[in-house]
Amino acid sequence: MVGKHPCPECGANLEWNARAQSLKCPYCGTVVPWSEEVREELGQAVVEQDLAEALRNPQNGRGWGPQRYEVQCQNCRAISVFVDGRVAQRCDFCGSPSIVAHEERSDAITPQSILPFKVSDGQIRDRIRQWYGSRWFAPNKLKHAALTDTLHGVYLPYWTFDAHVSARWQAEAGYYYYTTETYRDASGNTQTREVRHVRWESASGSLRHFFDDALVPGTVGVHTDLLRQVEPFPTTTDLQPYTPEFVRGWTVERYQVDLRKAAQLNEQDMDAEVRALCARQIPGDTYRNLQVQRTYSGRTFKHVLVPVWLVGYTYGSQNYQIVANGYTGAIAGERPYSWVKIGLAVVAALIIAVLVWSVAQNA
Ligand SMILES: [Zn+2]
Ligand SMILES: [Zn+2]
Repeated sequence: MVGKHPCPECGANLEWNARAQSLKCPYCGTVVPWSEEVREELGQAVVEQDLAEALRNPQNGRGWGPQRYEVQCQNCRAISVFVDGRVAQRCDFCGSPSIVAHEERSDAITPQSILPFKVSDGQIRDRIRQWYGSRWFAPNKLKHAALTDTLHGVYLPYWTFDAHVSARWQAEAGYYYYTTETYRDASGNTQTREVRHVRWESASGSLRHFFDDALVPGTVGVHTDLLRQVEPFPTTTDLQPYTPEFVRGWTVERYQVDLRKAAQLNEQDMDAEVRALCARQIPGDTYRNLQVQRTYSGRTFKHVLVPVWLVGYTYGSQNYQIVANGYTGAIAGERPYSWVKIGLAVVAALIIAVLVWSVAQNA
């Protein structure tokens, strides 16, 4: 299914180069511009897969090829996939050297599409430097790690889901009205006040909605709160069909949220949104007893890979990560606080306070 486009000079396998936004030969350096022709030669179109069909036949669409090699980190549990015969020495996600070969009974579902790296390592290093510069009280060891440690380019697994929904809803719509009441205040005087009441009327309605490319992350290697901060990845517009050329020379994380689990999470997300959409249709000022019956149809999914740049480091006994979106350059990070630096700042502030105080006393 997937075609081949070897290096025109030496015949080796080409790799994706973020800086050049082209395919490049790692051996002789020949650059092959990314064109429609190359794309057609290499990949099939980005297609949506039928969800029900895939859940019924879990063996379809699997197989990364014979060169695939997987390792699992004993520290952070992330599983890395290499398609180019490379063997890792350390975990790309947390830097731990305790990695073991990972054997899975069933092969992973092959990605259908990929968002190739757009931001190069040089650009990201500049941004990390700026990010670090704006962090006071971070230990110098972090500065060292952020500026000199190996920056890893990693493709993270995501699931994206499409679905049509048709829903019917019933609820009691509440309309506010006000009456004037008289009452006696604390000193026994007669006062009046406005009191709000609700008149309840039953209401019902229906809606149709299309969910397009709802994302569910399948990663365990990158901390979820950091991932949320560097999203979104423009998967609706800028995806390319998956071909091994894009991931050769890069690390790919194997998903650990499987399709069945991801589909459940997606359904929970959709249920919440359908309920919110129905609630918006209810007339009046408030509502209660909202009942929603919904049917999903035409549910499809894609397994996609998205690019991030990662610096993972250990400080004390904790793992910290700096994550950058490999497509948009958005950056987020965790950092420890240096209690030495904070302590020195507090002492300096106290000395100044004491000096000011003694000057004021002597004046
Ligand atoms: Zn070559
Ligand atoms: Zn790890």
